[in-house]
Amino acid sequence: MNPDDETPYVAGTLVDHHCHGLVLRDLDRPDLEGLMNEGSGVGRWTGSSFDSLLGVAIRRHCAPLLGLEPHTDVDTYLLRRRALGHDEVARRMLVASGIDTFLVDTGLLPGEICTPAEVAAMADPGARSYEVLRLETTAQDLLAAGTPVGELMTAVGQRLTESEAVAAKSIAAYRCGLDLPGERPGEPDVLVALNALRPDDSGAYRIADPTVIAALAWTAIDAGLPLQLHVGYGDSDIDLLRCDPLHLTPFLRATASQSVPVLLLHNYPFHRHAAYLAQVFDHVFIDVGLAVHNTGALSRRVIEETLELVPFGKLLHSSDAFGLPELYLLGSLLFRRGLNGVLADLVRRDELTAADATRLGAMVAGGNARRAYGLEVTRR
Ligand SMILES: [Zn+2]
Repeated sequence: MNPDDETPYVAGTLVDHHCHGLVLRDLDRPDLEGLMNEGSGVGRWTGSSFDSLLGVAIRRHCAPLLGLEPHTDVDTYLLRRRALGHDEVARRMLVASGIDTFLVDTGLLPGEICTPAEVAAMADPGARSYEVLRLETTAQDLLAAGTPVGELMTAVGQRLTESEAVAAKSIAAYRCGLDLPGERPGEPDVLVALNALRPDDSGAYRIADPTVIAALAWTAIDAGLPLQLHVGYGDSDIDLLRCDPLHLTPFLRATASQSVPVLLLHNYPFHRHAAYLAQVFDHVFIDVGLAVHNTGALSRRVIEETLELVPFGKLLHSSDAFGLPELYLLGSLLFRRGLNGVLADLVRRDELTAADATRLGAMVAGGNARRAYGLEVTRR
């Protein structure tokens, strides 16, 4: 066994506090390459998605789970994948990921992906899933269903408290950037902004006004529901310059006294900025999901840079897997290795005891997420 495969300080199961559902249908090569990263798949100039650190990590670490040699070529991998069928591939990857708790964002392409319960059913028996509701999608759906604008925020709050969701998520980053107002938006301002919203020809709404988006975020906080915020790296819809988490400083200052967890997702390439915010604001938690599987064999560096400043009690694991089971596997495997590698180095240099490394590793692997979201401990 490769010594890197042993991760004694992150040996238990993981909580994945931000992921999406699986695509449970046969995928041809262009579909699969399109789901591999934040680009749009094979490009005239980019070439194959497999020629990336993620692509080589799939061939290295996922191929053996399909009964193939490590580093097997792409065509052989895809043939074997198709022969086994998507359910069997998903089952093998999710069981091997060691994730026992999934927090699933159901707001992105819900018609394309499976439900939170179906994700958990693919993993080990006893694995659990919880839903995370997207604020913008929830509000848009209510508007399209005829909710009057004057009642929208109350209706969103009601939906949050009545649902079984364990958190709400905002995609402010995709809609208006992260410079949300430093105080709770006043009702008259929210009403003016809502009245300016118009549906498209199909009757659907798209909320992109910062006043409305901030009001939605406050609705989650008022409901006492942990608030996830997309930060940093994402697909080409995003204007990354506006997604540095430091833009959130006034919003975080304004929400600090509520003491409801605010969880900054992804954060790359601003993970050091996010780590700073987690240190100075008690209610802020962070992860480096999505960056871990995309940076593949170099992901330990991202994890190490994040750990420079983040309190151990504020870092969480997430895969941000969407569609492909390979992404749950790689997110968890590479995160375990990276975190374990940093802790093991500190133990080797006598900067940390092995007992402390085990305790801190367990906090990051799942304890912090269970605390932040008030989750039960999964029992096998
Ligand atoms: Zn996501």
